[in-house]
Amino acid sequence: MQKICKTCKKDFEIEQDDLNFYEKMKAPAPNYCPDCRVARRLCFRNERTLYKRTCSKSGKPIVSLYPPNTPFPVYDQHIWWGDDWDGVDYGQDYDPSRPFFEQWLELRNKVPRISLLNIDGINSDYVNNSEDNKNCYLIFGAQKNEDSMYGRLVYRSKFAIDNDFVQDSEFLYECIDCRKCYNCMFSDGCETSMDLIFCFNLRNCQNCIFSINLRNKSYHILNQPVSKEEYEKKKKEILSSNKKLAEAKKEYEKFKKEAIVKFSHQVKCKNATGDYMYNCHDTTHGFDAENTKNCKYVGDTEGTIDCWDMNNTYYKPELNLDVMGTLQTYNIKHSVYMMYTSNSEYSESLHNCDSCFGCLGLKKKKYCILNKQYTKEEYEKLKEEIIENMKKEGVYGDFIPPFVSAFGYNETLAQEYFPINEKEAKEKGFNWQSETSGTYGKETIKEENMPETIEEVTEDILNQVLVCKDCKKNFRITKGEFDFYKRMIIPLPHKDFECRNHDRMKNRNPRKLWHRSCLCKIESHIHGSKKCENEFETAYSPDRDEKVYCEQCYQQEIY
Ligand SMILES: [Zn+2]
Ligand SMILES: [Zn+2]
Ligand SMILES: [Zn+2]
Ligand SMILES: [Zn+2]
Repeated sequence: MQKICKTCKKDFEIEQDDLNFYEKMKAPAPNYCPDCRVARRLCFRNERTLYKRTCSKSGKPIVSLYPPNTPFPVYDQHIWWGDDWDGVDYGQDYDPSRPFFEQWLELRNKVPRISLLNIDGINSDYVNNSEDNKNCYLIFGAQKNEDSMYGRLVYRSKFAIDNDFVQDSEFLYECIDCRKCYNCMFSDGCETSMDLIFCFNLRNCQNCIFSINLRNKSYHILNQPVSKEEYEKKKKEILSSNKKLAEAKKEYEKFKKEAIVKFSHQVKCKNATGDYMYNCHDTTHGFDAENTKNCKYVGDTEGTIDCWDMNNTYYKPELNLDVMGTLQTYNIKHSVYMMYTSNSEYSESLHNCDSCFGCLGLKKKKYCILNKQYTKEEYEKLKEEIIENMKKEGVYGDFIPPFVSAFGYNETLAQEYFPINEKEAKEKGFNWQSETSGTYGKETIKEENMPETIEEVTEDILNQVLVCKDCKKNFRITKGEFDFYKRMIIPLPHKDFECRNHDRMKNRNPRKLWHRSCLCKIESHIHGSKKCENEFETAYSPDRDEKVYCEQCYQQEIY
């Protein structure tokens, strides 16, 4: 079935497996293309734009995802979880003569929202979508870390600064997609390795610089063996000044372009398309997906089964359609932040609930509509009436519309994966936050006067205001960061954490697939003197320089 996307006006295909799934979920086909659907879900996810404000109940200062001037109340997270307020107190009647989401927005403007999701954090106030972190600062989607700062999707790590998608590591700086690494910098896709600088896809390696696709090696530079002294000399040279470090970055980027890469980052996957996938089965268009089965259009997802159109979903969600943010949900449609909840639709922030429709901020409730309590019979009847009216409005089957999101597009993950400007965002019906946090022009050290070496930096830097080279936003160096740079002998960054994150994310593949064929021409392979003809879906775009190989050719060259 072909449709034209209501946002981008492009044709998109709804395939037979999509239709089968919609039928199973009793949902009509969506009016938006897969990419626009992701953006519509992600514009409800502000992970890291934090503000200082006061708690609307206690009046105490808090760190929050919401600026001070919101129409709705914001409660400190501990107060929000408490029993002395109840979401049904804000319940309202459904008015069949008015659009459903207009009424949903009225509810949204009344119900208290949680300041942020930072469960059991110790000395870690500026952390969100996270659990069990100690002495951490500005990390997001993070679990069980200590003394770590700046980054997304950081798990079980210590002294990890400026990293994304890393796990079980210590003393990690500016790395992406690394696991079980120690004392590594500026590296990506490395595992069980130590003392790496600017390395790509290494396993069980030590003391390597500018190296790619190595296994079980130590003391290598540019993939060639070197002496311990040569390694130490090169390391010292790279880290000796900001200028040298910038040159090294360029050299690494150039060297990396010659690499052989596998068409997709997939480990133990079967019948899967997408990228950065681990143990995924029968999963199409999966990105950063782990342990999924029979899923399509999923991103940042773990243990997800029989689900379509999902982002940031964990703890075995099953039979869900079009949801952003879940923990252990069953039969949920078109909703945001649903935890331990089942059989619900068009809702946001429900916890331990069942059979709710169009609700917001409820705990342990059943048969509620627009936060009002009904009997089972009343609930079923009114739900059907609303669905019929929504179908007439032409909105049933699509995600909660962006105009009811509590965030500006530019505060959310949507901006990270589908960056647009204010004008475009507004044209597409998204909100925009014009007063994001941060200051400009207050720097006490100009960018050109930044110290070149870490040796010349003293603790006085903690009192200084610095300025980002790219976006000109002011930023500071924290004590933990200062100690880390001194210990690791790393020159100070010249960019704020947002721009650093942006630079790292540019080194990951986009969440987009191209149909390509293997570029291998190695004669000793089974395809002989002819080019390999295997085809695949890959997130390496056709204009990339890397040698993109199929599974078989890749395995023969890199084990
Ligand atoms: Zn579209
Ligand atoms: Zn910046
Ligand atoms: Zn091949
Ligand atoms: Zn080959």
